[in-house]
Amino acid sequence: MPAPTAARDRCGVKGRRRGEDRASTLRTIFDRLAAAYGGQGWWPARAPFEMMAGALLTQRTAWRNAERVIESLRRAGALSPEVLAGLPTPTLEALVRPAGTFRTKAARLRILARWYVDAGGRESLKQRTTPELRAELLALPGIGPETADDILVYAFARPVFVVDAYARRIFSRYGWAGGEEPREQLSAAVACAFGRDAAVLGELHALLVEHGKRHCRSSPRCTGCPLAARCRTAARRVETGGEDA
Ligand code: SF4
Repeated sequence: MPAPTAARDRCGVKGRRRGEDRASTLRTIFDRLAAAYGGQGWWPARAPFEMMAGALLTQRTAWRNAERVIESLRRAGALSPEVLAGLPTPTLEALVRPAGTFRTKAARLRILARWYVDAGGRESLKQRTTPELRAELLALPGIGPETADDILVYAFARPVFVVDAYARRIFSRYGWAGGEEPREQLSAAVACAFGRDAAVLGELHALLVEHGKRHCRSSPRCTGCPLAARCRTAARRVETGGEDA
C-alpha cells in the first residue's frame, strides 16, 4: 500500500486523485474561480447580527428578497437585536413579508435576536469555542448545519468551510471528492487545505456558489468553464461526445 501523501495525512482526506497533492488541487480550484469571477465580497452585511438575520431571511428565497427585508428593517431602525426582539409581532411580520413564509421567519428572527441579546452580544459570544457556538446556533429554530456554518465563518470569522450542495456537486464532478462524505469530514479537509483561514474559506464558499450558478449547474455548462481543463467530468464528456469542454 502506498504511503499517504503529506496533504492526506495533514488534512485527513482520502483522495480520489492518486499521487496528487489534494490541498494544492483545491488551491488551484480557488485560484481559477477567483481569476474568473473576482472577489465576491461575502457576506454583504454591515454588522454580525445583520449577517445572521440575512442568513435566516434568505432561506428558500432569492437573496434580493432577503435584501429588501434587511433594508426595510434598517429604515425602521430595527436591525439591532435589542430593537428587533421588542418589535410588535404584526410590525415584524409586515417587515419580513417580502422574504416569504413571513410568520415563521419573523418568529425565528425574534428568537435569534433574543438569544443574541441574552447571550451578551458579540463580545460575549466570540468567547465561545467554535463547537460551543455551533451547538448553540443549531439549537435555534430555523438554523441547520449550513446556516450555522455560514454564521460561524461570516459573522464570527471562524475557520469553517460551508458544505452545501454546490460544493458537493463541484468537488465530485471535478474529481476532488466523492461528494457523499460526511459534512464534518469534507469541511475539515477543506479548512485544513487553506490553513484554517476564515477569510479564504468564506471566499471559497462564495466562489463555489457563483460557479454553481454560472457553469456547474445541475446540468453542467462545461464550455468556457474555468475548471474544465482539469475536470474529470468535462474530460469524460469529451471522450463520450456528451459535450465539448
Ligand atoms: S467542467 Fe463542467 S462539470 Fe467540471 S466543474 Fe466545470 S461545469 Fe462543472
